[in-house]
Amino acid sequence: MLLVMKNMVVSVHYELKVDDNGQLVTADKSAPENPLVFIQGSGMLLPEFESNIAGKTVGDSVDFSIKAENGYGLHSEENLAQIPIDSFKDKDGNIDTNMVRPGSVLPMMDQNGHQFQGLVREVTDEIVVMDFNHPLAGKDLNFSVTIVDVRAATAEELEHGHVHGPGGHHH
Ligand SMILES: [Zn+2]
Repeated sequence: MLLVMKNMVVSVHYELKVDDNGQLVTADKSAPENPLVFIQGSGMLLPEFESNIAGKTVGDSVDFSIKAENGYGLHSEENLAQIPIDSFKDKDGNIDTNMVRPGSVLPMMDQNGHQFQGLVREVTDEIVVMDFNHPLAGKDLNFSVTIVDVRAATAEELEHGHVHGPGGHHH
């Protein structure tokens, strides 16, 4: 039986729960037909995620928690930005108040064309306060993971640093 270890292609089902006002709620979950597939040790997943499933095999289930600081980091005020309201106006000077309002998540793009998301925290006549912390920043991550497949990565997969075939790249 193959064990989860470095350079194995691992398929898992997982559920991630985080605290929301004193209650654990599901933040993310793999779909039954669509397990998460990754190369163990390739740096795709959180290091503590990998260390908690190391040595497991198909059929094993494991529950574990990862502290926020080892997960998506702590919530930092440094990741808040005040952006001039003019940046949110269309060419006619109008603002889409359905989108630009506190609580809404906006797609943004940096100078290099990378897309990311920001949460609108506050809107004034002058500025929009955007929160660019990861949505799970400051949250302890509670995972339930079941191993559904383990196989050796091919030389090509290791060279590319990603999985080929089902759940991976097709190219
Ligand atoms: Zn490839």
